[in-house]
Amino acid sequence: MDFAQGDQQQMIREAVRAFAEKVARPAAMAWDRDAGWDAAGHRGLASLGAFGLAAAEALGGLELDAPTWTAALEELAAADAGAAEALVAHAACLAHLEAVGTAGQKAAWAGKLAAGEALGCLAHEDDPDNLDSDTVRTVAVADGAGWRLTGAKPAVVLGAHAQVAVVTAVAQDLGLTAFLVPMNAPGVRVLALDALGLRSAAAATLELTDVALGADAVLGTPGAAKAELEPVRDDARLGTAAVALGLARAALREAGRYAAGREQFGKPISSFQPIQWMIANSATEIDAARMLVTRAAWLRAAGKPAARAIAMAKLQATEAALRAADRGLQVHGGYGYTKDFPIERMLRDAALLQILHGSRDLQRVRIGSSLAGAA
Ligand SMILES: Cc1cc2nc3c(=O)[nH]c(=O)nc-3n(C[C@H](O)[C@H](O)[C@H](O)COP(=O)(O)OP(=O)(O)OC[C@H]3O[C@@H](n4cnc5c(N)ncnc54)[C@H](O)[C@@H]3O)c2cc1C
Repeated sequence: MDFAQGDQQQMIREAVRAFAEKVARPAAMAWDRDAGWDAAGHRGLASLGAFGLAAAEALGGLELDAPTWTAALEELAAADAGAAEALVAHAACLAHLEAVGTAGQKAAWAGKLAAGEALGCLAHEDDPDNLDSDTVRTVAVADGAGWRLTGAKPAVVLGAHAQVAVVTAVAQDLGLTAFLVPMNAPGVRVLALDALGLRSAAAATLELTDVALGADAVLGTPGAAKAELEPVRDDARLGTAAVALGLARAALREAGRYAAGREQFGKPISSFQPIQWMIANSATEIDAARMLVTRAAWLRAAGKPAARAIAMAKLQATEAALRAADRGLQVHGGYGYTKDFPIERMLRDAALLQILHGSRDLQRVRIGSSLAGAA
């Protein structure tokens, strides 16, 4: 495995970092409050090519490899994790379209998505009562040549702003099937979610009531969505791990900066051992997360099996992020609990990163079951 950053990766990292510092970080509080980025943020992201990071050049994307697009997500997340996680959702929609879409579906949506002229989301999980997160209750009923979809997706990142969604539904006698659903189709109701964290990712509940779709709305092979979506969902987990890495880095930065500037008992609090321990523990856990994210991205780019490495990266990076944000808030003392400092947002954001694309315990289940009998 090669840890060196190639020229392209360094160039992309620097370009995204410059945008993150100049635009996203100063705006992050407003994007959190308003549950979405503003027009300047959208323009800036579009000019970076951020809406088509991994998409094929033929579709208008940058076709970056996994180490490079995860570096881009990390840099953006260091300023605003919600915006970076929104790009993960958008990329999942575009990647599935690219992988299994028909020429007509790609012509209608791929170019617009890669350019950021339209936003996409992935509306898959919808069964909060069932411990098997692959269980889907939304149903698709054949209707003449087309389909009618009914159900609800309780929480969908970017759902509030997307123009198109990849929606999974159980089609009778066929099984789990993906559909490309325009968000303005009659019967689609979008209810903005008043989420605790990652608010700039603009999550929403999607209600689908007898949504009539043509036969050409089926995305991929009918009944094969579970298998066909797996690479996309793995990439979403890897993307979320990179987002967590960026957030963790930012939380550590905020803790260090505050500790150096705050004096108690006539000394900067950074001179107190408990503060140093908190910072040291976060720094060490973040470095471990970086190794795992780098390995997972490298395996992904090399076309090697990466599912377990991705689950480990997501588990470690999101745990490191939550702990770094928690410790960062403790370092800030009472001020950390106010909106005068970004650390409270980081703590809210980190909590959701642990849940998205399979909770931390589900990642443990994935790792454990893949190792069972392998020792
Ligand atoms: C704001 C927000 C945005 C979201 N955006 C999207 C989106 O864009 N697209 C999408 O498809 N989904 C989205 N989701 C859904 C999200 O991915 C799921 O909430 C997440 O995967 C957890 O599933 P669940 O809520 O069904 O929890 P459950 O799976 O019911 O988990 C509940 C608890 O049980 C534990 N548990 C579950 N299974 C096991 C097991 N096998 N062994 C041990 N413990 C287990 C979990 O760790 C957790 O502690 C979003 C959710 C939120 C809150």
